Amino acid sequence: MKEGKHLINGSWVASQDNDTLDVVSPSDGLVFAKIARGKAGDVDLAVKAAQNALDNGAWRKCAAVDRGRLLSKLGTKILDNFDELADLEALDTGKPLKQAKADITAAGRYFEYYGGAADKVHGDTIPFMDGYMVSILREPHGVTGHIIPWNYPAQMYGRSLAPALAMGNAVVLKPAEDACMTSLRMSELAQEVGFPEGAINVVTGVGEEAGASLSAHPGINFLSFTGSPEVGTIVQCAAAKNHVGCVLELGGKSPQIIFDDADIAAALPVIVNAIVQNGGQTCSAGSRLMIQSTVYENYLDQIAEKFNELKVGSHSMDLDCGPLISAVQKNRVEGFLDRARSEGIAVVAQGSMGPGLPSGGFYVTPTLFAGVPRDNELACDEVFGPVLSALSFDDEQDAIKLANSTDYGLVTGVWTKDGARQMRMAKSVRAGQIYINGYGAGGGIELPFGGVKKSGHGREKGFEALYEFCATKTIVFKHD
Ligand code: NAP
Ligand code: MG
Repeated sequence: MKEGKHLINGSWVASQDNDTLDVVSPSDGLVFAKIARGKAGDVDLAVKAAQNALDNGAWRKCAAVDRGRLLSKLGTKILDNFDELADLEALDTGKPLKQAKADITAAGRYFEYYGGAADKVHGDTIPFMDGYMVSILREPHGVTGHIIPWNYPAQMYGRSLAPALAMGNAVVLKPAEDACMTSLRMSELAQEVGFPEGAINVVTGVGEEAGASLSAHPGINFLSFTGSPEVGTIVQCAAAKNHVGCVLELGGKSPQIIFDDADIAAALPVIVNAIVQNGGQTCSAGSRLMIQSTVYENYLDQIAEKFNELKVGSHSMDLDCGPLISAVQKNRVEGFLDRARSEGIAVVAQGSMGPGLPSGGFYVTPTLFAGVPRDNELACDEVFGPVLSALSFDDEQDAIKLANSTDYGLVTGVWTKDGARQMRMAKSVRAGQIYINGYGAGGGIELPFGGVKKSGHGREKGFEALYEFCATKTIVFKHD
């Protein structure tokens, strides 16, 4: 891989000022690579390269069927390089190798799915007045900007870029400074399968520099952002100044709602996994455990037992949890833990560190808090670490009120055998995805995904994502 370079107009190039950043492995805190630190000038070149691919390049002439073939080939190529990519993702993010493998499988699948979909997004005709024929075309926005986070970098690469490319946009990606490596490697694979120059451009760097320049660039026709609500606001303001649209996915405080008739044996492993998967650094982590008061102590004990068994290790130890992404994130999560303890909130279970943990890594112990007050930050704010907060509720009305009480609305899990209650809950809880007797933290490439309220707007995944990455054009033909 071209170390310390951006991909601009089909070539790997250093930053204009040759600036670079160190890449650290979260498992031991040691530097293992360098990436380029792009700034406004590098972003400008990338946006112009993308525009040129649309105006003059081979990408403009690439028919939907051929775009689909290229995407499918990239999906296959990603899977052909499965072990190398999974190792790189695990090293770069610290996530357990099994999670990195699941992520690479998903990254490949995004390109397969949208490869198959590229020539299946149709326009429409509308019956209008006598003497008219009206066609609706779906056209790409043009140059799309993509800012993705560090928690699932390989998956986000597929989730954000594949539908945009399927619709014929030319893309400029700014991956997170803490996790760029698989984005760079998959972009190299994209070149190998024949994506024309300028169709995919990648500028690495820091959010406040490369990210801000990309969001504000007047040559960008649409933005896709996943990350914190704070930066989402900045990106949306930048989009507004240029009068372009954006999709924002800004995380959540997703509840797992357990009624007293739930199949608790089936729910247990799912509930624990929903918060410890990827060290809790998942936008759709099931981070609020809501248990009906009649079974609260009983179910909490069972969950605590499972929580106490959790083991933390390096990416290669491949245990339940890896380290967090960075020292900054570790400090942030430990701040939540310290404040909760000092407020007297009870810790009812904790995982433990695996044997022979490398020193210098960013490890945090998975922690289950109980009796969390409803207005406490642990019940309301996104921790983005392996921290589960248990609360009790009285009845269905109280469950709905509590579920809807945060600023977020991304995913919800409901555990009950009562069919009518399943329907009522699904309709009453405000979220982009509701799971009944199951949970898929971000799962399912075919399933539209996104939030309401502070979790953002717009939809990724499934066919919905394709409609985000195009605009309709109405053509009115008058004939005699
Ligand atoms: P973040 O700052 O929102 O980062 C997300 C992306 O935005 C990264 O690519 C980042 O680049 C970029 N960025 C940062 N500042 C920017 C700016 N001014 N303009 C344009 N782009 C910018 O998130 P974070 O600081 O990494 O994490 C903080 C918290 O956000 C987490 O604790 C978690 O609660 C939440 N989060 C949510 C998700 C999610 O999936 N919804 C993902 C990550 C984080 P750099 O990283 O290179 O600076
Ligand atoms: Mg940053």
